[in-house]
Amino acid sequence: MLKGKTALVTGASRGIGAAIAEKYAENGVNVAIIYNGSEEKAKAVCDKAVSFGVNAKIYKCNVAEFNECKETVAAVINDLGSIDILVNNAGVTRDNLLAVMDEAEFDDVIDTNLKGSFNMIKACSRNFIKKKYGKIINISSVSGLRGQAGQSNYSASKAGIVGLTKAVAKELGAKNICCNAIAPGFITTDMTKDLNAEEDFLKMIPLKKLGKPEDVASLSVFLADDISDYITGEVIRIDGGLAI
Ligand code: NAP
Repeated sequence: MLKGKTALVTGASRGIGAAIAEKYAENGVNVAIIYNGSEEKAKAVCDKAVSFGVNAKIYKCNVAEFNECKETVAAVINDLGSIDILVNNAGVTRDNLLAVMDEAEFDDVIDTNLKGSFNMIKACSRNFIKKKYGKIINISSVSGLRGQAGQSNYSASKAGIVGLTKAVAKELGAKNICCNAIAPGFITTDMTKDLNAEEDFLKMIPLKKLGKPEDVASLSVFLADDISDYITGEVIRIDGGLAI
């Protein structure tokens, strides 16, 4: 039963995170909408969530900053009472060929995507352990499963998320905390709008269509719901068959 639960969703101002926050709200889940730069977009997501009759609030937090995550989680628990579901969705790309990729491009992506997920899991873990309940959903990528040329930084961060997911699932399983990862393929959002490679991707996708943020949101509902209580440490691809 999802109704009445509370979720913290990072990167919820746009794209996949916004769709997840809205879908949770539609299912009766209170949502903490975490954004970094897109305040107006976060407010619009919040308004939509509130229209479903749940509690929702926006929080500015750079997930790459350990202390900001700690303070944000404390504020969410204070405002919304508790956190039952954590979705680590915030992510960036800084694509470049290895030969020309600079240190900052590597560090930025690892800090946001991988360390950001660790920061939030760490900040929420005490609350989850205390109540012997928690659903952690980490957004990885098929790039993290297969590797992608021009994305050594991003692929490493997303593969790291898979390892993090499995380690956390083993470590916190005895406390009734599930930790799973979602590995999307090509989803139409701001992140993919400049790729100009839709035709190439379509050729490689058995289902011959690109994914929508709502597709990932539906899977996030499944992984947050009690019906998936016996699933942990799993990585679920949602890619139209791209990485088969
Ligand atoms: P997007 O449209 O570019 O949105 C990225 C989100 O992450 C925004 O809400 C942004 O917040 C937030 N964000 C970025 N850096 C942040 C930071 N340092 N602290 C807090 N929030 C930060 O991306 P998307 O396509 O929805 O992707 C969402 C997740 O899915 C990412 O982890 C991405 O790697 C993964 N993914 C996407 C695809 C795809 O095809 N789209 C495929 C596989 C995996 P602000 O705008 O407020 O700064």
